[in-house]
Amino acid sequence: MQPFRMGMKWVRFAPSPTGLLHVGNARAALLNYLYAQQEGAQFLLRIDDTDTERSKPEFVEAIKHDLGWLGISWNRIEFQSARLSQYKHAAEQLRSIGRLYPCYETPEELAFQRKALLTQGKPPVYNRAALTLSIKERKSLEEAGRIPYWRFRLHEDRISWEDGIYSTRIFEGTYASDPVLIRADGVPVYTLASVVDDLEFGISCVIRGADHITNTAVQIQLLEALNPTGVAHISWAHYPLFRMRSGEELSKRAGSMSLQSLREEGIHPLAVNSFLATLGTSEALDSSLSLEDLIARFGLTKINLAEAQFDPQDLRRFNQHVLSKLSFKAVETDLYQAGITISPEFWVAVRENINSLKDVARWKEICFGTPFLETPEEDLSFLKACLHCAENASDTFADSSTWESFVKELSQSTGRRGRHLFHSLRRVLTGQDSGPELHVLISFIGRTRMMERIRGQISATAL
Ligand code: GLU
Repeated sequence: MQPFRMGMKWVRFAPSPTGLLHVGNARAALLNYLYAQQEGAQFLLRIDDTDTERSKPEFVEAIKHDLGWLGISWNRIEFQSARLSQYKHAAEQLRSIGRLYPCYETPEELAFQRKALLTQGKPPVYNRAALTLSIKERKSLEEAGRIPYWRFRLHEDRISWEDGIYSTRIFEGTYASDPVLIRADGVPVYTLASVVDDLEFGISCVIRGADHITNTAVQIQLLEALNPTGVAHISWAHYPLFRMRSGEELSKRAGSMSLQSLREEGIHPLAVNSFLATLGTSEALDSSLSLEDLIARFGLTKINLAEAQFDPQDLRRFNQHVLSKLSFKAVETDLYQAGITISPEFWVAVRENINSLKDVARWKEICFGTPFLETPEEDLSFLKACLHCAENASDTFADSSTWESFVKELSQSTGRRGRHLFHSLRRVLTGQDSGPELHVLISFIGRTRMMERIRGQISATAL
């Protein structure tokens, strides 16, 4: 097997299209992307869709959409389901060198063996009984209806590699079971497919979660078997997975922690990127960083070995900081996709008073719509004075001098000032206790709406 395009560095992100991408998958994609951008490597999006029952085309589309949303682009996309013949070919190659052998045990028999070994205090390693079967014995098992599945024969040598994050990893071959590479239904499993692809697509660095460390040990032997001349060289980096601070399993929260639901919640992609790129590293969270800054700051060695904790509340809080600094240009597309149309001036007016992009729609309703206003605590005379002063004001409140004279007149006629005046006014005009500066909001609300709102409350209070 020949590695693909020698001389060019490649990384890959290999999701299974069996569900939506969640923050854990996004971290894998992001770390690979940041690395690729920094190293001038190419990024392969590999769709691991050999599980035809659970893989769905709509999830492939969702994966592409989510990556695009994060600003992660790929140089090439490949589908494992279209490469079954390559895996078959690799299996033939392994058979021909005696590294792939047929096994006939049923799942029940294997479970029984495992249990027996564990009760004896031994590691539950497959006993290789199938290796001792004669051709005749195999034949009679097959005649009795048993269909073989195929295991890779591991060498018992020590397997070691220099991990980009974990430093030297050593793995004792004797403690591992020969992995199944081809299931009884003939479908190759991930362990084989992934190695064939890594080899053929010339992957130079595999960056993935530490849950794959055992796979790596096995896959290194597979690589050596399929690439005996040693032309291909892959470096490995495993990062510690994070844990949900709540103690729940991420897989149980995968729905609410999906990129789709974060997007729907109004979290900005830059907040997701900065948060995930910094999580579990020695870098401090910084809300003013762009994707380019994240690329420049990225380093595999900055990833800590201690397990990080992920708290969605921290992400939400961080999102507020990110949003408060973003330009209109940076949020325009997201607002458009969320169906929110506003002017750049309106964005600047509200960005420091939102928790998520969704809140922009709330402020839009408060300024330009018919928000719910209730001021039972206000006396009629205050409302009437507000109306009177608004009637006297010039047409728009676009300039601050109109607002200033309005406030001055209102203060004189009601005797109120400071918080007593402004808080009441804010409640009367916006129905809120806090928010952007009132004079800024009024420049959007305008005199006509302002009077309608005061009149409405006068009628409600007078009833
Ligand atoms: N489809 C595999 C997974 O999502 C890919 C793992 C790998 O990066 O090799 O776990």
